[in-house]
Amino acid sequence: MALLPEFQESAAAIAALRRDIHAHPELCFEEVRTSDLVAAKLAQWGIEIHRGLGRTGVVGTLHGRDGGQSSRAIGLRADMDALPMQEFNTFAHASRHAGKMHACGHDGHTAMLLAAAQYLAAHRETFEGTVHVIFQPAEEGGGGAREMVKDGLFTQFPMQAVFGMHNWPGMKAGTMAVGAGPAMASSNEFRIVVRGKGGHAAMPHMVTDPVPVAAQLILALQTIVSRNVKPIEAGVISVTMVHAGEATNVVPDSVELQGTVRTFSLEVLDLIEQRMRQVSESICAAHGAQCGFEFVRNYPPTINSAPEAAFAQQVMREILGDEGVVPQEPSMGAEDFAFMLLEKPGAYCFIANGDGDHRALGHGGGPCTLHNPSYDFNDALIPLGATFWVRLAQRWLSCSP
Ligand SMILES: [Zn+2]
Ligand SMILES: [Zn+2]
Repeated sequence: MALLPEFQESAAAIAALRRDIHAHPELCFEEVRTSDLVAAKLAQWGIEIHRGLGRTGVVGTLHGRDGGQSSRAIGLRADMDALPMQEFNTFAHASRHAGKMHACGHDGHTAMLLAAAQYLAAHRETFEGTVHVIFQPAEEGGGGAREMVKDGLFTQFPMQAVFGMHNWPGMKAGTMAVGAGPAMASSNEFRIVVRGKGGHAAMPHMVTDPVPVAAQLILALQTIVSRNVKPIEAGVISVTMVHAGEATNVVPDSVELQGTVRTFSLEVLDLIEQRMRQVSESICAAHGAQCGFEFVRNYPPTINSAPEAAFAQQVMREILGDEGVVPQEPSMGAEDFAFMLLEKPGAYCFIANGDGDHRALGHGGGPCTLHNPSYDFNDALIPLGATFWVRLAQRWLSCSP
């Protein structure tokens, strides 16, 4: 593994920084302490900082040996927010804030990008053009990337491409992955209200019972992916909440259904939304019920552009050799880096977090998987992740993809 030796030396300091962030988790758009810490470190290393994009976002700008004369620029992005959940770990760096936890490793993402920024600031002779290090808030449902884009991320900081990286538990430690096309799915929510006419459960002829209508509807929704979506395309419709009634002898007025839809393309998403609306309204109409249909698109699919994905993969090979670069199936999880990839070419990369053996004594005893209360970021990744960011920037700024 061709790691930059500087990161072996700074690994302990960066790991301490990561653990400090882990111990002080902050939720969507509340990353005040974390962004202060990021900004202070960048400033300490002589990096120009810009704050306030997406409220708590931070951008650090590094010009290379040409002082930024070249218009060539790259964006490297990390996320800073934690999750609203209780940590089970009791080791020294466990969360000090009840009900908040870095269970997705964004503490590690922030630390790896900081390490890379520190190196690049000290070695400006190794690149020409500009590196923007982007620390975004609110990845976990808040659309922090979208907010940074709205606040002018790509107009204030022009760049040709932007890259993101996520740790991936279960992948063998010391490996990385990236592929062209979909990396993560679009994430969407729906709420359907079937409105009938309630009444006495012993007199069904006097009511419009929404319960059997909702039952038909739940099953009919499952035919959309199996019968309308092209078999080689992917889609998920999950009805996850069903709310109706409070008494055994009362037919309720309405039934509420909620759930999630995931797809890898906007075309499939358009089709699913349109068919869900048709099926819901038609089934309700067939039974004399009213239909309320709401569909909210949260995150678009995360789609890597082919040249940038190939470029990132080449950099991984340079560091890890062929055997260290593994294939990665797209995930039906979602990621708001998608909003940046709607604006700029780029790729979302994965770095293995290993199987959980790295965790210090006092971990919660559960699996080391994302969003699990026993999760912890693997500090051994820091030299690899930071080397990858540095090499990616250096290579990007010295040749065309
Ligand atoms: Zn997450
Ligand atoms: Zn995450």
